[in-house]
Amino acid sequence: MIRLGLVGIGKIARDQHVPALANSGDFDLAATASRHGRVEGVESHSTVAAMLAARPDIRAVSLCTPPAGRFEQALDVIRAGRDLMLEKPPAATVSEVEALAQEARRQGTVLFTTWHSREAAEIDAARDWLAGRRIDAVRIRWMENIRQWHPGQDWILAAGGFGVFDPGINALSIATRILPSPLTVLDAVLEVPSNRASPIAAQIRFRTGDATGDARLDFLQTGQQTWDIEVDTDAGMLRLGMGGSVLELPGEIPISGENQEYPRLYSRFAELVRSRQSDVDLRPLQFVADAFMIADRRIVQPFEF
Ligand code: NAP
Repeated sequence: MIRLGLVGIGKIARDQHVPALANSGDFDLAATASRHGRVEGVESHSTVAAMLAARPDIRAVSLCTPPAGRFEQALDVIRAGRDLMLEKPPAATVSEVEALAQEARRQGTVLFTTWHSREAAEIDAARDWLAGRRIDAVRIRWMENIRQWHPGQDWILAAGGFGVFDPGINALSIATRILPSPLTVLDAVLEVPSNRASPIAAQIRFRTGDATGDARLDFLQTGQQTWDIEVDTDAGMLRLGMGGSVLELPGEIPISGENQEYPRLYSRFAELVRSRQSDVDLRPLQFVADAFMIADRRIVQPFEF
């Protein structure tokens, strides 16, 4: 068993990481580092540095703090010679991740930038079906209620919090995995509440191969929540629903699988730790950075949780 330290005990750590680790045959949750959050029955520290100093036996660390501010914590982990797994988005900027990857190479440690939505049940089947097909158009609809999924998380709408791209980057992680050609941003409109720094909604047009795509991201969706990707091809339309857990192919009955995203992420991290390989894929983050770079920013109504 690999002893692991978990950092940033908030919603995702409690909802997904702790249960996945409790059932893992690879990792033993040895300690946590968080200013306020605790996991019952697990040794806790208030900072990453304190945890690393107290527990030289901890070989791997998983960071679940918000992306802005994670860079320094990640550097501490890598410089202490421990292997590191990062929640999505892996950091606040592209160059931060590149610097972390370089430092991990220098120290001989493993770095894993995770994209949990790529582990959804039907992603691999979708990628295999699309391989070799002509892509005509892509539609991404990622529309959810911020008050339900991110209650009170002011950081998400602050600078460096990504706003609606915090969930939206999950769609981009899927699109960059399943589509055969790279994605490049054509143009973007970001809607930013007058009292916040990051967008609450966004529309992006992009190119992939000879096709164009459009993505609509919305944090103010009430009622039915939508996490769908549709791809028009020369063989009909593929539709991935519910964040990649339901797959509809032309003329076939929809198929769906069990949610195993976080157990799969930890299995993959264990493989990387044992084989001493890193897995760093920046494409979803680069797409977001490009959209922010060329976007038309529109100020909209103030937002309060
Ligand atoms: P969260 O509930 O706010 O938890 C993050 C924790 O990090 C906080 O509880 C806080 O714990 C700690 N923290 C350290 N520095 C912080 C700072 N400057 N501001 C706020 N918290 C800080 O957030 P989350 O939803 O778990 O999201 C964390 C990461 O997981 C994000 O990158 C997000 O994209 C990703 N994620 C979230 C979800 C989801 O459904 N919420 C799903 C998948 C991935 P202490 O106060 O104890 O230090």
